[in-house]
Amino acid sequence: MHALAPAHILNLAQYIPGRPIKETQAEFGLEKVVKLASNENPWGPSPHAIEAIKRELYDGALYPISGRIELKEKICRFLQLEESHQRRIVLGNGANELITLLVRAFLGENEKILNAWPSFIVYRLCAQAHGRLERTVMLTPDLDYDLPALLVAANEEADALKMIFIANPNNPTGKYISKKNLDEFIAKLPPHIIVVVDEAYADFVDEDDYKSCIDWVFKRPRTVVVRTFSKIFGLAGFRIGYAVCDEEIADILHRIRDPFNVNCTALVAASAALDDFGHIKKCRENNSQERVLVTHEVQRLGLKVTPSAANFVLMHLQDKTKSMASIVNNLMRHGVIVRPVANYGLPNAARVTIGTPSENQLFLRALAEVIKNTELLSL
Ligand code: PMP
Repeated sequence: MHALAPAHILNLAQYIPGRPIKETQAEFGLEKVVKLASNENPWGPSPHAIEAIKRELYDGALYPISGRIELKEKICRFLQLEESHQRRIVLGNGANELITLLVRAFLGENEKILNAWPSFIVYRLCAQAHGRLERTVMLTPDLDYDLPALLVAANEEADALKMIFIANPNNPTGKYISKKNLDEFIAKLPPHIIVVVDEAYADFVDEDDYKSCIDWVFKRPRTVVVRTFSKIFGLAGFRIGYAVCDEEIADILHRIRDPFNVNCTALVAASAALDDFGHIKKCRENNSQERVLVTHEVQRLGLKVTPSAANFVLMHLQDKTKSMASIVNNLMRHGVIVRPVANYGLPNAARVTIGTPSENQLFLRALAEVIKNTELLSL
C-alpha cells in the first residue's frame, strides 16, 4: 500500500492560530470577548483602506495586478528607498507566503535552515513541510538570540546550511536585536547563506539602537527582509506582505509564486494604508503607551514580563515548573483570549497582544480576578 503522503508531511503539526472571537462567545455564552491572541491591530484598518476596498469590489471580476508597480513604488517611499528599487520588492499573500516561497525556491534537497528557538514557528513548519532539515540554536535564558552560538552553528554546518531566519523583533518574545549586534553578526556569516530578516514588528520599535536591515540587501545580495501589512497597517485579514531583496532573488520568487498571489482588495488596501500617516502614528503611539502600562500592571500582579519592543508581551509565571494553561482558560471565561505558547516550549508563559486602552483594562481586570481565584501561583 502506498503511503498517502511522504513521511515528512504526515509528521507535520498544524499551525495553531489564535482562538476566534465567535467560537469563544459561543462556548462560554459571552457577549463581549476581546482577542489579544494574534498580534492584530486593535484599531482596525485605516478608514482610507476600507474606502479603497469598497471601491475595488466592483472590479472583483478582474484578476488582480500582482505586479502593481504603483504599490511597490509607495513601499519604496515608505522605506525611504529610491522608487527604482521597486524591482527589489516581491509582494506575497502575507509575510507567511514569502517565507514559504523562500524555503521552496532556495532550499535544495539536502540543505538546511538555521533557526533560533523559540522564534516564529512558521520557519520551522515551512522547512518541515518541504522535507528540509533545521539546525536549531536555543535563545539564551533571557530569551535573546544567541548570536555567537548561531555563528558557530552556521560555520559547523558549512555548505549544508542555506538559509537563516532572524525575526527582529522576535515572536513570541517581543525582544529585539540592536542594529550594531545584528550588523556584526551578518558581516561574519558565510556569504553563501541567505539571511532572512523578518521585520513583521519593525514599525512598533521605539528603541534608538534598532534599525531595519534593508541596507544589507544592497551590500550583501543574499539578504532578504520580510515585512507585513498585518500588524501596524491592520490588514491581517486581507493577507499582504512583501520581501525586499536582490533583483536576482526577486526574479526567482516571481517565477515560483502563483500568478495572482495577492488579491485585488489587499493590493488597494495596502496602497491606501501606506498614505495614512495619521493612522500609523496613532497605532504606534497607542502601542508604545499601552505596552508600558500593560507590562507594569502584569508585573504588579506578580507575573514576570519579557521586555517587549513589539505589539505584544510575553508574561510568565514566576515558578518555571507551573503551567499557564489554567490562567489562559480562565481568562477566556472572562472574555479575554490570549495566546498559550506551550507549542513554543514555554508552557509557563502566555503571549498577550497590546489592545486599545479599554481592551487592556478588561484584560488586566480579568487577570487580577483569575490570579486571585487560582491556587496555582506560588508568588
Ligand atoms: N513574521 C512574524 C514574526 C510574525 O509574527 C507573523 C504573524 N504572526 C508573520 C511573519 C506573518 O505575517 P502575515 O500575516 O503577513 O503572514
